Amino acid sequence: MKRKASAKNMAAAVRDEARYLMNTYRRPPVVFVHGKGCHLYDERGREYLDFLGGIAVNALGYSHPRIVKTIRREAGRAIHLSNLFHNPYQGPLARKLAEWSGLDRVFFTNSGTEAIEGALKIARAYAKARAKNGRASPTRVLALTNSFHGRTFGSLAITYPAKYREPFAPLMPGADFVNFNDVADLEAKFDPGVCAIVLETIQGEGGIYPVSEAFWNRARELASANHAALIADEIQCGLGRTGRAFAYQKFAKLPDIVTVAKPLAAGLPLGAVIANEEFAGALSPGLHGTTFGGGPLVCATALEALRIIEEEKLMKNARERGAEIRAGLEKMAADFDFIREVRGEGLIIGLDLIVEGGPFVDAALKHGLVINCTHEHILRFLPPFTVRSAHVKKFLATLNTVFAKTPRPKSIEAADSLKTHSSAAKAATASAAAATPLQTELSLEPA
Ligand code: PLP
Repeated sequence: MKRKASAKNMAAAVRDEARYLMNTYRRPPVVFVHGKGCHLYDERGREYLDFLGGIAVNALGYSHPRIVKTIRREAGRAIHLSNLFHNPYQGPLARKLAEWSGLDRVFFTNSGTEAIEGALKIARAYAKARAKNGRASPTRVLALTNSFHGRTFGSLAITYPAKYREPFAPLMPGADFVNFNDVADLEAKFDPGVCAIVLETIQGEGGIYPVSEAFWNRARELASANHAALIADEIQCGLGRTGRAFAYQKFAKLPDIVTVAKPLAAGLPLGAVIANEEFAGALSPGLHGTTFGGGPLVCATALEALRIIEEEKLMKNARERGAEIRAGLEKMAADFDFIREVRGEGLIIGLDLIVEGGPFVDAALKHGLVINCTHEHILRFLPPFTVRSAHVKKFLATLNTVFAKTPRPKSIEAADSLKTHSSAAKAATASAAAATPLQTELSLEPA
């Protein structure tokens, strides 16, 4: 009886959404009411295995006891104090992010897109401060094709798909796109007017495409030689997901600025811009700020989350479980001819299909598995870092059943740009596999 009443309430909640929410999201007919570990539960009490993790946010799964305890404790102390005053957690959290990243100073935001805005502002302010005798300063920003950096005007200007940008034009001026992993195109488009090169070390929304070592190194050289910022957007791939603290730690050289958000505060909204001393020095009191960013509740939670990742050796787990997932998917690729490619590392994995992925996502949900599809044909898996081998086995078995039982979806002709993208990514993966991994040296997590 009680359960029925709750189902009725949920139906009413969904009706209210349809009537009162702006029409921005398409949602399946399920209402999740709580989660535990790697599982979600709907209003009927049905269990789902979550391999999406709130889109790369729930790195510690649901209801991690240490996170729940921290939030309860801080909620009873002070949720918010404002950035006019010190709080006990911003400094220690900034210190940990500096240690993890190899950079120096941090600015806290409320979201990923704000972290990107902060990074762009730092790059512009740095360039302006360097320009001598009133000369025009560099303002151009180079991003990559197929990128996703967020929905506010600066981030949107460097987000590639025209469907996201064009309805809101004009956006931030000075943005231009370099073909993914195309060093020659980078060299052609880079000039002294560039103040920043922005890239996702592994493109997430774009479909799990890693930047190549050759591209990273050339971007680093050009940026350094011209005092431009190399900005790594690690909002989706960073903070341990690849099995390293940051995905760029497989390369020898550091970026100048890194952005993080999604998993930082274990589900509470918190982002950060992390910069080296040189670029961080472009900011001074009053030049940038935020009301909510870096409050005591979110910072205490983030600090606890990063400690959990270290103490529970979750980066090692990400590497090991990631390898199991990849091996299982590679095997599946031999059985199902509609699988084009498996990409990614650690717990950021994409399965590129030659058919639409949507029907598989819907079928998986019916089978109690939460996954996602990007660019209409790339299934994306972003499980919590706490995922265990038993979860991986269940995931692979369920996906296998879904692939076997779902009527073959419509074929998809990948856009030319994505085909080029895929071959550029393959070359990057091959060269990364051949290189000596730096990850064990650079990982801060005890092995
Ligand atoms: N950058 C990357 C790589 C992302 O994946 C996202 C979100 O998906 C963003 C930026 C924007 O983050 P937010 O949605 O928190 O503004």
